[in-house]
Amino acid sequence: MVTRRDFIKAGLLTVAGMAIPISALEMFKPEAMASLVRSFSEKKRWAFVVDTNKCVGCGMCAKACKLENEIPFDADVQRTWVERYIQLKDGDVVIDSPKGARLGFTSNDPYGHEIKDEEITKEFFVPKLCNQCEKPSCVQVCPAGATYKTEDGVSLVDRSWCIGCGYCITNCPYYARFFNPVTNTADKCTFCYHRITKGKNTACIDACAFGVRKIGYINDPKSEVFKIISTQRVAVLKPEYGNEPHVFYLGLDHIVR
Ligand code: SF4
Ligand code: SF4
Repeated sequence: MVTRRDFIKAGLLTVAGMAIPISALEMFKPEAMASLVRSFSEKKRWAFVVDTNKCVGCGMCAKACKLENEIPFDADVQRTWVERYIQLKDGDVVIDSPKGARLGFTSNDPYGHEIKDEEITKEFFVPKLCNQCEKPSCVQVCPAGATYKTEDGVSLVDRSWCIGCGYCITNCPYYARFFNPVTNTADKCTFCYHRITKGKNTACIDACAFGVRKIGYINDPKSEVFKIISTQRVAVLKPEYGNEPHVFYLGLDHIVR
């Protein structure tokens, strides 16, 4: 019989069946970010902002992404997904993301185990996606040259060159890549490159009724993303890997990994 403590330990280690290493967060002060932004050249560079304070875990973003990018809906692979974090009064943390949250969080009981309200210190949602790293390890390890970074900072996969070796999947510290069961190639979020380069928002941004997600040029003073990053405290995930992620989080709790 699985005890509550057993499943909490499992929850600590697993999201959607993936092992999660403990990681740190890096907080950027506005003045530090402004300096970073100024250090960029005139070349435009895409970046993304996720406001965790606003996410309600409805999963409309994850669902819209699947439909937009023709990822088989029932396959347990996601270009973007939403994680739920539940911190308990005894200090343990439970993380789950049933079906990547593409159907939302339909149960209050992670993994089917009841957690009573009085046991919970705090509970919140964190959307995740490819971080479109400045130094993408997925590009560095691809032996076929199928994974590459565009001039404006987005890492893409050329399916005609991908040999399906999976090196990029295992070398992404954010678990952002997966094997597409239809194309038999590596797959990942592209920031909806086919849309943003035509002046549109990503599908996930358009689907979110709560304004959680934003995209723009990090070095364009007119973009909302620039304004947020250069004036508010933002954080990135797992800075210790040195990938220099370009998804910036507002309100990121220290228990997020
Ligand atoms: S998050 Fe992963 S898949 Fe995305 S650019 Fe960085 S290393 Fe590559
Ligand atoms: S659509 Fe918006 S509020 Fe709903 S889960 Fe996604 S980011 Fe959160």
